[in-house]
Amino acid sequence: MTATAPITQDVLTLPRKPSEGPVNLIGLSRSALVETLIEHGLAEKKAKMRSNQIWQWIYQKGVRSFDQMTNLSKDYRAELASQFVLAVPEVVNKKVSTDGTRKYLMRIAGGHEVETVYIPEVDRGTLCISSQVGCTLTCSFCHTGTQRLVRNLTAAEIIGQVMVARDDLGEWPAAERTRNSETRLLSNIVLMGMGEPLYNFDNVRDAMKIAMDPEGICLSRRRITLSTSGVVPEIAKTAEQIGCLLAVSFHATTDDVRDTLVPINRKWNIETLLAELRAYPKLSNSERITFEYVMIKGVNDSDADARRLIQLIRGIPAKINLIPFNEWPGSPYERSDWKRIEAFSEIIFKAGYASPIRRPRGEDIMAACGQLKSASEKIRKSRVKPDKPASADAQPLR
Ligand code: SAH
Ligand code: SF4
Repeated sequence: MTATAPITQDVLTLPRKPSEGPVNLIGLSRSALVETLIEHGLAEKKAKMRSNQIWQWIYQKGVRSFDQMTNLSKDYRAELASQFVLAVPEVVNKKVSTDGTRKYLMRIAGGHEVETVYIPEVDRGTLCISSQVGCTLTCSFCHTGTQRLVRNLTAAEIIGQVMVARDDLGEWPAAERTRNSETRLLSNIVLMGMGEPLYNFDNVRDAMKIAMDPEGICLSRRRITLSTSGVVPEIAKTAEQIGCLLAVSFHATTDDVRDTLVPINRKWNIETLLAELRAYPKLSNSERITFEYVMIKGVNDSDADARRLIQLIRGIPAKINLIPFNEWPGSPYERSDWKRIEAFSEIIFKAGYASPIRRPRGEDIMAACGQLKSASEKIRKSRVKPDKPASADAQPLR
């Protein structure tokens, strides 16, 4: 960006450098890190070695200052510090739920805020991370969907959420004890926070590659789940370029209902989406796809819905995650009764699919699915209301 370019230019692009100033080494892919060191004067061979050392300091030991990189000469450390920064999001607020869930409000460049949630469970610890500030989509049951897209997160801001959570959990360095997934506090990542990850594909991919790198955070690709509302053209790329597990926000069994709940359905309908999903497990070598299904009273929770769902997904290795609808201030729907959710689950289970009911976590701190939205922004005026479906072009879908 030149000095004269308008600041608004990078609102919808994917800035590596959200502002002018020193390059942030965090979030660069391995090859980009080498290139950056070469651009700043190192010979190629040396740059490879140095980048390996720097990489390990950042992602294995969790250091945030060049001065701590003690296997580099003092002079080189000073040189690095004069040219680069190691920047991650800043935690401006942390709330801990009575069930142990932690919700972080993180500030990123430009003064924007995103939310990240850590969910401890008996056999795992899952970090739910955000990929965008707001969302372009307007799913009518989702709190984030009431917020306009402000911008995509950079790869540094995406992997930075993982690093900052590890800071808070005291899980550096990534030593032998923490290498074993079972004993890690942060053992899984789900891209189920704010935003549609497949509308920020390159940055999500670069960040997840860093999370998987064996010489760093070293999470297995099977412990990373990307959730999409159904951005069909990007699904195969997810298998090919990331290889993580896939979850799909399905939520309805007819196009009529899905058009209202997940308006991207007007662009890629159920049939188109399912055709694409059939190829995913083979492409990514993963066992099965998770179908997320939010249970909303009187909208999508009948026995007929459960049976249609089974028909639709026939042949796809799948698990159906039933998510009791989480209310948020002004939300237009109600959660299905518990008995209804259980009956729905039973029908699916009897057809041979796992159908766990997701226990709402962190509700007291508004950290449950679909409740995330930074407090600083205003509710959008043009809401999609269930009784007044917006026309397909009311909100441009990309
Ligand atoms: N944009 C992506 C990922 C973020 S949403 C997607 O839509 O898949 C993460 C999950 O939470 C999605 O399955 C979403 O449908 C669900 N969700 C959103 N609002 C919810 C609510 N109010 N109650 C329960 N689940 C909700
Ligand atoms: Fe965006 Fe996902 Fe919420 Fe839909 S459910 S508005 S795609 S974050």
